[in-house]
Amino acid sequence: MNYHGVLQRYCHLSDLPDYSQTITLFEGNTPLIPAPRLAEELGGGFELFIKFEGLNPTGSFKDRGMTAAISEAVGREAKTVICASTGNTAASAAAYAARAGLKAVVLIPQGKVAAGKLAGAVAYGAQVLQIDGSFDDALAMVVEISERHPIALVNSINPYRIEGQKTAAFEICDTLKQAPDWLCLPVGNAGNISAYWAGFKAYHEHKFTGLPRILGVQAQGAAPLVLGHAVEQPETVATAIRIGRPARGEQALQAAEESRGQIIAASDESILAMQKRLAKEGLWVEPASAAGLAGLAKELQAGKINLQGKRVVVICTGHGLKDPDIITKAMAKPNTLPPKLEALEEIIIP
Ligand SMILES: *Cc1c(COP(=O)(O)O)cnc(C)c1O
Repeated sequence: MNYHGVLQRYCHLSDLPDYSQTITLFEGNTPLIPAPRLAEELGGGFELFIKFEGLNPTGSFKDRGMTAAISEAVGREAKTVICASTGNTAASAAAYAARAGLKAVVLIPQGKVAAGKLAGAVAYGAQVLQIDGSFDDALAMVVEISERHPIALVNSINPYRIEGQKTAAFEICDTLKQAPDWLCLPVGNAGNISAYWAGFKAYHEHKFTGLPRILGVQAQGAAPLVLGHAVEQPETVATAIRIGRPARGEQALQAAEESRGQIIAASDESILAMQKRLAKEGLWVEPASAAGLAGLAKELQAGKINLQGKRVVVICTGHGLKDPDIITKAMAKPNTLPPKLEALEEIIIP
């Protein structure tokens, strides 16, 4: 077979212990999609690419990190894995644990997890537990229980998650033959922004591909890294980044600073508007996934960023199918017609 998962493709660059046993669903290798019309609408003069991470096996980039975390856990003979999750980590952990024959336990904040994510975790056979609290509460619980019991923690504070997620930066450099000038992405618990920055740095050392400036985007109601303090009750439609106490917050700020980038906040309105705009490119992403582009548009409109002649990559982190309710609850019910050609003609022929 000539196609591998991300660990095999980039084994020379990922720092996993020798005892790891590769568990893969052939994640990664996601498309980098040019979006010239969208770039034009945003002011033009730059090249825009969307990396659609929603095309990973469970519908989000979490799979890149999960293949690594589960491979390591299996190597040291863990029998159970646990995570706190706003949804996508849960679905991913459940799938990779199932593939490895491990038990998965996932803790989710009550009532705040998108339907497709919860369904995924259940379908893959995880034990799903709701916490009457926030993601941050759930994370504190799983950290503590994994210290007390032989249960492997697979949240992004697990260093192997970051190792796996670096591979997205490698893929971008491989496709473009160099790093882009700017990379824009949503920021929640801040594992992914940390992984991209580490990935670009590692690739640059290896292949001299250069380094991007990084624009990290939080949702306005969940923007601890912009405010400079934790947010006790984070609120946003972008549930995947509804996090008030990012575990890798310091690293995210460092990535922004070292790369001469920035972390900013985008409103829920602008995130939902950008979700709609991406759909017009044929890309249906979940709300959080549109935050990177919403933030970029905001900076452009405010004249705070100059992209003339630059190349920009925006990361769309998860698939729209994960959160169908956000679309269906706002839509008008489809017209019902009798099964008659005239009725159809009357409606669709001008
Ligand atoms: C997890 C997730 C994020 C946030 O990533 P962090 O590593 O927590 O910053 C953004 N979008 C989607 C779709 C996610 O699943």
